Amino acid sequence: MSDTDVPATDASADLSASADLSASTDLAATVDPTASTDGLAVELRAAVTSGLTRPRAYREQQLDALIRMLLQNVSLWETALAQDLGKSQIEAHMSEIAFTVGEARSVRRKLWRWMLPTPVPMQLALQPAIGRTVPEPLGATLVIAPWNYPVQLALGPLIGAIAAGNAVVLKPSEVAPATSALLARLVPAYLDARSVRVVEGGVPETTALLEQRWDLIFYTGNGQVGRVIAAAAAKHLTPTVLELGGKSPVYVHRSADIAGAARRIAWGKWLNAGQTCVAPDYIRVDREVADELVEQLRQATAEQLGDARSSPDYSRIVNGKHLERLRGLLSGGTVVTGGDTDADERYFAPTILTEVDEDAPVMQEEIFGPILPVLPVDGVDGFIASMRERDKPLALYLFARDREVVRRVERETSSGALGVNVAVAHSAARSLPFGGVGESGMGSYHGHHSFEAFSHRKAVLSKSTTIDTLRLLYPPFSQLRGEIVKRIAG
Ligand code: NAD
Repeated sequence: MSDTDVPATDASADLSASADLSASTDLAATVDPTASTDGLAVELRAAVTSGLTRPRAYREQQLDALIRMLLQNVSLWETALAQDLGKSQIEAHMSEIAFTVGEARSVRRKLWRWMLPTPVPMQLALQPAIGRTVPEPLGATLVIAPWNYPVQLALGPLIGAIAAGNAVVLKPSEVAPATSALLARLVPAYLDARSVRVVEGGVPETTALLEQRWDLIFYTGNGQVGRVIAAAAAKHLTPTVLELGGKSPVYVHRSADIAGAARRIAWGKWLNAGQTCVAPDYIRVDREVADELVEQLRQATAEQLGDARSSPDYSRIVNGKHLERLRGLLSGGTVVTGGDTDADERYFAPTILTEVDEDAPVMQEEIFGPILPVLPVDGVDGFIASMRERDKPLALYLFARDREVVRRVERETSSGALGVNVAVAHSAARSLPFGGVGESGMGSYHGHHSFEAFSHRKAVLSKSTTIDTLRLLYPPFSQLRGEIVKRIAG
């Protein structure tokens, strides 16, 4: 990795050049990145209560700096993602670098509108009065990121936190060490260290951070650790956003365009070698079209990746431990295509399984890798019944042209998101909330939803003092007043 992409100029110079940031010069120099993390929450909360992070200009400059951090160091990000996950350049841009720049630019453009108070109508009993909700920063926030999209899932929440006027500690995943190190190096060079810090590390470092009192913890990762986060947060009554995972199913109805469905499912599944929280985990397909679907999946895989081992567009498994875990899942069915692996290269072939045992681990735990079980089902009733026996997933994908089937699946199942004739792509729709329900998580983000996730919406009711209609409510009560109150209070 070369240093040539690191800007020669200190980003803090840009920050202090405009707007009301008189005290913000010499930003990076004021913080020692090796210092103890004790007291970080207190220190960062003070940055928020002092008013530093509140002005729109400050938030916009921080977002601009974040965009520059991505665009001025493209080859460093690409290299880190290739080291951690073997991500191709195109995939690195599609789902990480360009994706995050797009999110930051969109948030930056719309921020002024989101920051405005929102007027609300007021019922008769309280008139005359003005009601509004005012978004305000929560304070010191902690973002804990996972390894599978280590840029997007670290910086995406950071964008929301900055936009809403918070201070943030970002804890990248130690499982993607190259990207974690790059974040730790570039974030302090571009962003104001008085309000944004990166703390690297694994379980001990995260545990230490969790002992502090945060104003919001935003965690992305598995549900088991999600419970650890929620328990730690409960001690301080800290709110949490938990972006978790689980088994996101696909249902292919007989009315579907089978070849088109196969192409979209294959793309969504093999992306990042299946290490995507919203990857299609397994397929249930109407029995009469099951063979056709498997054949089309095989063809789509060959068209998209050819010999996957030599394809520059196919990612690698993050480490040997995960590769071994995935190998263990293969015994849950019959391998139709794929199944070969190479531990030295962390390669795991795109693999389709049929004759799958419902009780096998491959159907019990989230696969999170390139294994795609295909199970026949008897129509939409059978599919909906199968959903009721399982946890609510992060995403559900339905492939069907029959509108009644679409209507029924939408109404009779629950999931974080529903993709109709599409897989994974809903996560790029900035106007849609991204998040789970039940076991797949709580809270959501992306676009305006990120701003809201990191804000408190304060209710403001404002009355004039010239007319005191509230007097009706003051004792002593009379029968007449009682009648009036009964009529208008409802
Ligand atoms: P991971 O191992 O990187 O862990 C996530 C974060 O939790 C890391 O920063 C890690 O340091 C921290 N952590 C791990 N153990 C901890 C502990 N005991 N105490 C405190 N912190 C701890 O990532 P992972 O959990 O393997 O990620 C994969 C899971 O995340 C899958 O279930 C996937 O579906 C889910 N996921 C969800 C989303 C989403 O947006 N909903 C996105 C990506 C991944």
